[in-house]
Amino acid sequence: MFEAPESPYLVAYDGSFKVSEASTVAVTNGSPHKGEHRKLLTDHLNQLQRVLAAGDRHAVLLVFQAMDAAGKDSTIRAVMQGVDPSGCQVFSFKKPSSKELDHDFLWRTTKCLPERGRIGIFNRSHYEEVLVVRVHPQILASQKLPGELNLETIWDERLHSIREHEEHLARNGTVIIKFWLNVSREEQKRRFLARLDDPDKNWKFEPRDVVERRYWDDYMAAYEHLLNATSRPWAPWYAIPADNKRYMRARVAETIIETLKSIGLRYPEPTDEERRQFAESRAELEADG
Ligand code: ATP
Ligand code: MG
Repeated sequence: MFEAPESPYLVAYDGSFKVSEASTVAVTNGSPHKGEHRKLLTDHLNQLQRVLAAGDRHAVLLVFQAMDAAGKDSTIRAVMQGVDPSGCQVFSFKKPSSKELDHDFLWRTTKCLPERGRIGIFNRSHYEEVLVVRVHPQILASQKLPGELNLETIWDERLHSIREHEEHLARNGTVIIKFWLNVSREEQKRRFLARLDDPDKNWKFEPRDVVERRYWDDYMAAYEHLLNATSRPWAPWYAIPADNKRYMRARVAETIIETLKSIGLRYPEPTDEERRQFAESRAELEADG
């Protein structure tokens, strides 16, 4: 299993992470994601993705979670721009369908896991089950769970299931990198107001998002709990400052690149048998007048 590369934004594995101490603005001098820098990162990621596909041993799963307007969509777009579209796939998880509710809570995301050689992106994920559902526990009533609900234990049980599930995936070749795009409450307000002020952004405005904002502190408590419970060396969380979008995108791209570099991806070497066949094919091609 791989070990997560170091980063000031890596969520510690010992349960000591505090949302109140996590910065929503840059804490390193890293460059923003623009111009040449952006092109270099994109080219690099594209190259790594090709080796990943050729090697056909690892899958990569990128999980994005954030409060509304933190920039999940635009980050996914910016980071994956230039990567071979046949090598990656994005899935967005919204309110579950009745078919999905007929299964355990990991079923719908499990069905969308990337195959070896590919990058799968989850825009929201199984973590909604310990976020929105925890903040609004009345949602549990629609989940057809058997027996008595115990709100004292259910979240830890779910986090335990998620941890084991991710460890299993990692053991079997999935490289999991999870990003919490950490936007401040003030910046979210600015972005919502910009959506109201700018006619070209009106379509992005959802009155429901302002209602959800009332539960900010509950969401932060749920985030703190899940980040501590599920950031592990084989499935790390990164809490990326999200108040500056360019800075955020660059840190996300770099984290993915550093991780892929650290697993030692290589183009596969031909076997002795394949080399013998290559020699035969070469001889035949060269003899063909
Ligand atoms: P955008 O607003 O950019 O289109 P979004 O991810 O916010 O993207 P919406 O359709 O606005 O998409 O919201 C999806 C909603 O579905 C979110 O409020 C999210 O919390 C909710 N959701 C996701 N998973 C679950 C789940 N398992 N149970 C209940 N609600 C969920
Ligand atoms: Mg939304």
